[in-house]
Amino acid sequence: MFTPKQIVFAPTGACNLNCSHCRVDRSRGGNGSALTVETAVAFLDQCLAHEIDRVGFSGGEPFLAIDFLEAVSKASVERGFYFDRLMTNATWFDDVDTMRGALQRLYAAGFDGTIAVSFDSYHAAPVEKVLQFIKAVTGIWQRGDCVELVSVLNRDGTAAVVYIDELAVGLSALVKREGGLPMAIQDQAYLETVRQGLDDGSGLYIPILLMPYSAAADDPVAWQASRWFKDDYCDGPGNLFFVHPDGAVAACCGFGNENPQLIIGTIQDSYERLMASATANSHIRDCYEKGLGRKRQEMEAAGVKLPGKTDDICFFCDWLCRRGTAE
Ligand code: SF4
Ligand code: SF4
Repeated sequence: MFTPKQIVFAPTGACNLNCSHCRVDRSRGGNGSALTVETAVAFLDQCLAHEIDRVGFSGGEPFLAIDFLEAVSKASVERGFYFDRLMTNATWFDDVDTMRGALQRLYAAGFDGTIAVSFDSYHAAPVEKVLQFIKAVTGIWQRGDCVELVSVLNRDGTAAVVYIDELAVGLSALVKREGGLPMAIQDQAYLETVRQGLDDGSGLYIPILLMPYSAAADDPVAWQASRWFKDDYCDGPGNLFFVHPDGAVAACCGFGNENPQLIIGTIQDSYERLMASATANSHIRDCYEKGLGRKRQEMEAAGVKLPGKTDDICFFCDWLCRRGTAE
């Protein structure tokens, strides 16, 4: 059942990068957008009464909308919300002073969630710049556990070893050079084998979340899995209100959330109206209640010939939406 527990605001679709796997619709937002500080704060007030207690930020690159981040963080603190992730590419700044100034504003506004740095072969970010960013964040927040890396696997399923390894070495050198916090970079599945020796047991702790690559809906390679996905009823990226830069509200923060089938209204709608729209939406019910696995079985039983198998449930969701079978 769609039961949102969090609001993720994407205050801008603008970004300094152009990653090949990006699905953000940059035409959303701009002048006249329904997403403003005022509508965001009014939305926070509405959601307070409905067991939504978390706020996160995404984009585009959210630091390009620092005024929004600062004001909405402040309002969230005043209302007792917790913070979840703020997704960033950690390379949005031209100079370190500007970057530190933006971080200071966010810190002073009371943001104490996780700063999640997208870091993989697709972003291909200059390591030195990401190091500057992580150093500034851990210094300003005076916490060694407030940064994590979110790293999308390469298309062949391997991790972005070269990038992560270089960053790990750079962080190690940074700590030694600057006399900063001792550190432990940990990823159970990956770093055990790649970066033994970096874990000195305490201090800086940077988890690395390895995310599968999700193919585009028209990518034939996507249908070559040996087994089908398991139903998760959107337990991971779903169950939240994702507010796009133009104020459209999606019932999903997976990469399918640009599809009209997952949009349930706008930030100016009431909570009740958004929920009624979600309840009336059969694709959202398929995702959250029936399960897309069952939907797939029903389609096959009705004679629909699928191109192959996929183990990526969000790809299947996106494919249904784009193919027009999600209704
Ligand atoms: S950093 Fe994020 S928003 Fe920017 S291009 Fe890359 S994936 Fe898209
Ligand atoms: S299955 Fe669809 S609705 Fe659910 S999280 Fe994935 S993209 Fe979003």
